[in-house]
Amino acid sequence: MTRLRTVEEQLDRVLADLRVLDPLELTLLDAQGLLCAEDVYAQAPLPSFDNSSMDGYAVRAADTTGATEAAPVVLPVIGDIPAGSPAPRGVTRGTCLRIMTGAPVPSGADAVVPVEWTDAGAGQVRIHRPASPEAYIRRVGEDIEAGDLAVSAGTPVGPAQVGLLAAVGRERVLVRPRPRVVVISTGSELVDVGQQPGVGEIIDANSYALAAAARDAGAEVHRAGIVPDEHSRLMDALSGQLLRADLIVTSGGVSAGAFDVVKEALSELGTVEFARIAMQPGMPQGFGVLGGERTPIFCLPGNPVSALVSFEVFVRPAIRLMLGKRLLFRHTVSATARRQMSSPPGRRQYRRGLLHRDDEGRYSAEPVGGPGSHLLASLARANCLIMIDEEVAEVSEGDEVAVIPLLPDA
Ligand code: AMP
Ligand code: MG
Repeated sequence: MTRLRTVEEQLDRVLADLRVLDPLELTLLDAQGLLCAEDVYAQAPLPSFDNSSMDGYAVRAADTTGATEAAPVVLPVIGDIPAGSPAPRGVTRGTCLRIMTGAPVPSGADAVVPVEWTDAGAGQVRIHRPASPEAYIRRVGEDIEAGDLAVSAGTPVGPAQVGLLAAVGRERVLVRPRPRVVVISTGSELVDVGQQPGVGEIIDANSYALAAAARDAGAEVHRAGIVPDEHSRLMDALSGQLLRADLIVTSGGVSAGAFDVVKEALSELGTVEFARIAMQPGMPQGFGVLGGERTPIFCLPGNPVSALVSFEVFVRPAIRLMLGKRLLFRHTVSATARRQMSSPPGRRQYRRGLLHRDDEGRYSAEPVGGPGSHLLASLARANCLIMIDEEVAEVSEGDEVAVIPLLPDA
């Protein structure tokens, strides 16, 4: 029997065959969560004009000198400047204009007195505190100057970048787009959810789980449904989906059974390789490329836990690479094992687990359910994968183990 391939060896092969997707111009909200693929320069300065940062009175600072509660300075209010209005007239010596936050500072004024420092008068105002020059004025270009770099290529487009792009007048931005991932379940025993399974039939869980996982990883997903274990049906489905896919994920049909049609049919092509990986679950795996565009395809095993763990180990990093992300892998934490666990020698086990964090920030982990790769409910109760390395056959209670937290960001 040939040596099993390590997870790292398989990952190296997989990642070497992938490339980041070409940039695409998207509207701002569609660009959210993606990496900016251009250097965006501000066309205009921000703020775009001198404006008030407070509701108050635009004054000449010198006119407020010496103002106190006991001896307020009294100035006539010669007009109002609401936000959005042009500043029609200037402030002359000994006068002021009532001004709202965000409204343009009138000529002649060099400070704003907040309304809280006054009696809020309309015809004339009593000012209790002197304003220093420049007080409460936001100067043009103070945030960003015209021609400055607003968002650089490679920056994740989050809420602040979306806001800044809008503020500098950009409706669309070049980003690394979401890979379009097509998910196909194979198996003649499968029916879609909503249908009543007959004797020996089961509901397809994997195309839903894998579609959700792909979306979680940042992909745009198409669930292409169920294909029976028939060579021609599989090839038809794949060629029908190639056009719309940047990446294809199949489940089932990759082991050594008589009807493992994915392995049979795709091995013949010579561009998809089936290997035995030194991991549990997920030992049999296929990866390669299909069609003229050399679209990557992952052929994952059919057991739901094998499929999802294999997705986590291989497909999620692949999607992240295509998105242009620098960090392809989840971070791991070191945790104390709360229970004894055994693992097949020579294979890295990914045990479903519960990760706990105590008040001092120390982690501990315990397995959830057994190692069986059909135990989907256990996976649904887990919040982490406990990694037990190839050379470790037994973890004792109290040993340190590496754990991949699977918690969503929430
Ligand atoms: P296979 O990899 O095709 O040999 O399937 C391995 C096991 O996973 C079998 O018990 C299948 O019935 C089950 N299985 C395969 N595909 C799915 C699926 N899409 N949803 C749930 N279970 C599946
Ligand atoms: Mg099958």
